[in-house]
Amino acid sequence: QVRVRFAPSPTGALHIGGVRTALFNYLFAKKHNGVFYLRIEDTDQTRFVPGAEAYIMEALEWLGISPEETVGKNEKFGPYRQSERKELYKKYADELINSGWAYYAFDTPEALDALRKEYEAEKKTFIYNHTNREKLDTSLVISTDEVSKRIANGEHYVIRFKTPVNETLHLKDIIRGDVSFETNLLDDKVLFKSDGMPTYHLANIVDDHLMETSHVIRGEEWLPSMPLHVLLYRAFGWDAPEFAHLPLILKPSGKGKLSKRDGEVGGFPVFPLDWKDLKGFKGDGYLPEALVNFLSMIGWNDGTEREYFSLEELCQSFDLSRVHKAGARFDIDKAKSVNHHYLSNKSESFLAETFQPVLDEKGIKIDKVTLEKIISSIKERLVLTTDIWDLTDFFFQAPTSYDEKASKNWKEETPALMQELISTLEYIDGFDSANIEAIVKDWMTKNEIGMGKIMQPFRLSLVGALKGPHLFDIVEIIGKQETISRIQKAIA
Ligand code: GLU
Repeated sequence: QVRVRFAPSPTGALHIGGVRTALFNYLFAKKHNGVFYLRIEDTDQTRFVPGAEAYIMEALEWLGISPEETVGKNEKFGPYRQSERKELYKKYADELINSGWAYYAFDTPEALDALRKEYEAEKKTFIYNHTNREKLDTSLVISTDEVSKRIANGEHYVIRFKTPVNETLHLKDIIRGDVSFETNLLDDKVLFKSDGMPTYHLANIVDDHLMETSHVIRGEEWLPSMPLHVLLYRAFGWDAPEFAHLPLILKPSGKGKLSKRDGEVGGFPVFPLDWKDLKGFKGDGYLPEALVNFLSMIGWNDGTEREYFSLEELCQSFDLSRVHKAGARFDIDKAKSVNHHYLSNKSESFLAETFQPVLDEKGIKIDKVTLEKIISSIKERLVLTTDIWDLTDFFFQAPTSYDEKASKNWKEETPALMQELISTLEYIDGFDSANIEAIVKDWMTKNEIGMGKIMQPFRLSLVGALKGPHLFDIVEIIGKQETISRIQKAIA
């Protein structure tokens, strides 16, 4: 059975790469009728951020990709928080000591620093491995009794992996194909510390095994850890899962890896769902289905030109072997165009509901029918839900200023013409867009008044700028009285 996991460390907001990893795991699980579970990798207490775990779960829920098993939900292989599995890891670390796959090291940070400097002085890089481990303060050179004594005395130690020497590991990655690593270039990674905590590597392998993970799908930054992980499975005598390392996400320029410092691409934070203030994609007005669709395209396509996929469609079409190796550029304009696509397919009533809190906050009351008409008039131009107010503000309030540049359309004769327009509007009975338009245009033709002379000052009076939807739709929605009073105000 396919069992895949998302295993974030609760160190803060989920950034774009993390969300994409979660999504690809979810899609892979669904495609193969498998299970997607969430494991919280919180063994590094120094980086722990309260609230981050709840935030991660909420973020996944908002996106519609909640795990089937996690903390507090179907805890079949629980606990799902590594800090609550602490006791377990010690046993496995001991097992590796006993089988000779790991050893104790007592080097102090100062001693290691000094050694590193010696290497530097000789222009060599320091790797803690077979070239020096037997010259260091480790259980490979001290007697077992001595080791026990020093541990009993409360001396700090770490347990390191004893990397095999002179071996080329030929490994398989679903996305990258064959990859090979020289064991001589690996360092003897720390697996366990005397504070009783495992490191990421040990906890991750033990849990992936115990939780019966079939595929490890994660970011490319973990590719260098793959040889150690495979060796750990070998050391324990366990079958290793299959691996797939997702391509890096590149800066919008395509040059280099996207970093947190790129957070303000296009004037808003790229890093989504900031648990602190809910900024990010959600706060910026993206729909979850648009974000899911956009994320799915970072490093994947279905082999055709097709761009739009619902989550269900992605679950059907997604294929790990179609994920590219090369880094994928993060393109915020693409995210916007996808969001625009989904927004324009939303119903007026959905959008009205999304917009209601903004109106409430401003103390604006408006009936549902009118609100939906307003939304309908600007829907085609919506990119983010947060744009609604900027696109519609003039429906709710008369302009307080008039666009300078547009005011050049305001001529000497304009006030008189606007006065005539008012008289024309006053006599219109059926005040609907088409009727008003017909009558106003008829009046212009009969009096040989050019379109430009009326339409632009008219719009300027109602909107304050030369923007907005069809003018007569605005007139219908704000109504006769408001239209006339805005023109009066403009010519006053
Ligand atoms: N805890 C690791 C992280 O924060 C998990 C990496 C993995 O998937 O193995 O990304």
